[in-house]
Amino acid sequence: MNPAEWLARIARVTPDAPALFLGDKLVADYGAFSRDAAAIGAGLVARGIGPGDRVALFMPNSIDYLPIFYGILYAGATAVPVNGKLHAREAAWIVAHSDARLVFAKDPQALRATGDIAGVPCLAPGGEEMAALRATPPLAAPAPMQVEDPAWLFYTSGTTGRPKGAILSCGNLMAMSLSYFADVDEVAAGDAALYAAPLSHGAGLYNFVHVLRGARHVVPESGGFDPAEIFALAQTLGNVSMFAAPTMVKRMVDHARAGGGTGEGIKTIVYGGGPMYLADIKDALAVMGPKFVQIYGQGEAPMTITALSRADISDRDAPGWERRLASVGRAHAVAELRILDARGAPLPPGEAGEIAVRGPQVMQGYLENPEASAKSLRDGWLMTGDLGHLDNQGYLFLHDRAKDLVISGGSNIYPREVEEALLTHPGVSEVSVIGVPDTEWGEIVVAFVVPVGDGQPEMTELDDTCTSLIARFKKPKRYIFVPELPKNNYGKVLKTDLRARMQNGS
Ligand code: ATP
Repeated sequence: MNPAEWLARIARVTPDAPALFLGDKLVADYGAFSRDAAAIGAGLVARGIGPGDRVALFMPNSIDYLPIFYGILYAGATAVPVNGKLHAREAAWIVAHSDARLVFAKDPQALRATGDIAGVPCLAPGGEEMAALRATPPLAAPAPMQVEDPAWLFYTSGTTGRPKGAILSCGNLMAMSLSYFADVDEVAAGDAALYAAPLSHGAGLYNFVHVLRGARHVVPESGGFDPAEIFALAQTLGNVSMFAAPTMVKRMVDHARAGGGTGEGIKTIVYGGGPMYLADIKDALAVMGPKFVQIYGQGEAPMTITALSRADISDRDAPGWERRLASVGRAHAVAELRILDARGAPLPPGEAGEIAVRGPQVMQGYLENPEASAKSLRDGWLMTGDLGHLDNQGYLFLHDRAKDLVISGGSNIYPREVEEALLTHPGVSEVSVIGVPDTEWGEIVVAFVVPVGDGQPEMTELDDTCTSLIARFKKPKRYIFVPELPKNNYGKVLKTDLRARMQNGS
């Protein structure tokens, strides 16, 4: 069950198949990719690292990422991918929390300078120690791992607080991969996974489906997300699939609109990880065509709770198309879904409550956090902390995170509804809505608005937009115009920061 065995297997079957690309240049075929990983694995074993140990990767996307990642698994250890965009102090916290035995880091100096990881060896991918590791005679085979053995310690992005380390087993990752083939996209050997989002998160999780099929893996030369580069690469390589956060989709659409083409060569864009507003996905479809599939998931059930299929998204003539487009789709093949009330009792379709999911993709628990684990895992069900409702056909409509729900004058207000309404105003570029404590109402609705261009829409106009679409009591009591919204490294709006700002009296 060791995912490195999935790599070794495909390397045995198609050793000459192209595997790793830096930009449009082939760097390694599957034979070379697997050998490199087996050598890194052997080097780790020689350092006394093996099953039960954790090894962190604090690196931006690079051509070395996947060989190192699979090297860790070859040794039978657990990989701890840390977002390469984090501050060294934030990364050091994760390294220390995960009790990693070794770290692969682009800038070991910065990590060591934090003083928080004394005694943990840090290796730079281009350094001498790394070269020595790679020169070790390769392991003949990956270390055996069982279905329940931890393979990936997935730190959540910390939108709601400190990141938590979700323990993902080999079985969780296989369940995720099989469900991807069933519900997200077919993958063929000729496809190319383009890593424009951090490999430490969703994009990286999806590497498995491309390894299982022996498809290509492409790291953009910029190491990050640049729509012009992505479009050019897709045109050259063809059959490109990529994971993109909603903000990335928006930027690709802007690029296309500005004359950059329609994203020719991009076969599939899987979006998710945060809300995609209706207007934005409609724009994306109109400009880039039927390339889109939506997923809803979280690190705790790696990307695998629901999916909104390509057909559901693209078939405008299907009855109920627009309504469904606002959903996050139906349960993945491996996912059982329930909507629960505050006491944990299941609710019927149409009624909103907390989304719970059960299945072989659900994590084992959080590392060193029994309290959070007990809160999240109840009788085998993962409590997602997200609120939503199902319709009669099993489509899930996400409302908001439980923590973001606003209760004003005793009524529930889902910020997302207010955001969707405000975004229809032509003068609004981005918006985030929060609840702020208030002595009279309990909470009041406050909207942070990023205007389009230099102007500022009239508040009365914004009020009118809201009341034309949603109930009057949901309308913000206050608008705050800001040049940009605070976001984390995955492009998610940090409502915790907005709330803190209000508390500090601004
Ligand atoms: P933390 O748990 O530390 O606050 P995080 O929840 O941001 O971090 P992730 O696992 O990266 O960590 O994000 C999962 C969350 O992202 C989901 O619980 C959900 O709230 C949101 N999300 C995921 N997919 C979608 C989607 N398609 N539409 C809207 N929101 C989504």
